Amino acid sequence: MKIILLGPPGSGKGTVSENLVKDFSAAHISPGEILREEVSKETTLGIEIKKYIEKGNLVPNQFIVEIIKLEIIGKKDFILDGFPRSLDQAEAIKDIPLDVVLYLDVPEKVVIERFSGRRTCSNNHGYHIKYLPPKKEGLCDIDGLPLSKRKDDKPDIIKERFRVYHKNTAPLVEYYKKKGLLISVDASPAPEKVYAEVKKALKKISKK
Ligand SMILES: [Zn+2]
Repeated sequence: MKIILLGPPGSGKGTVSENLVKDFSAAHISPGEILREEVSKETTLGIEIKKYIEKGNLVPNQFIVEIIKLEIIGKKDFILDGFPRSLDQAEAIKDIPLDVVLYLDVPEKVVIERFSGRRTCSNNHGYHIKYLPPKKEGLCDIDGLPLSKRKDDKPDIIKERFRVYHKNTAPLVEYYKKKGLLISVDASPAPEKVYAEVKKALKKISKK
């Protein structure tokens, strides 16, 4: 299947895409990953991209679109994750056939709860006070180090990330809805439940 995956930070997009890759042996295509790879391999493109990054500039749209197109062409099954991020980008790939655009819809309240419950030790072992609590409160199971919140997990920062995501994504959701490609999945429940819903939705499509 040819899938675009949309969802705000905290929607469980990572889990869903990992499972889709496994179950559908689809290629996972993420512009962030590809850019990093090009840069580290020092390809012609990578060298160009690096110039922008080193100056602290955004990598121009046309580069990203070209990279994505090159990755997608000829692939029967793929999951496009983290792209498109704008209507311009969506328009730029409109010739690429798609089966579905999956939108993981989750309220801000849930996202805040998910992020603000995260705890890590200084060795970066991760926990969640509700979903993945350590055996002893406030201490890492592996090394016994104290657990603390990450700096960027403060509610204000989460709210801002969420707001920015919706500002950019809302037009995309509308765009793909009009094209009849959008399927919205409630991403509030636990990740395995969300993924079960995703699979159900995909089954319906593949029967069409
Ligand atoms: Zn630890």
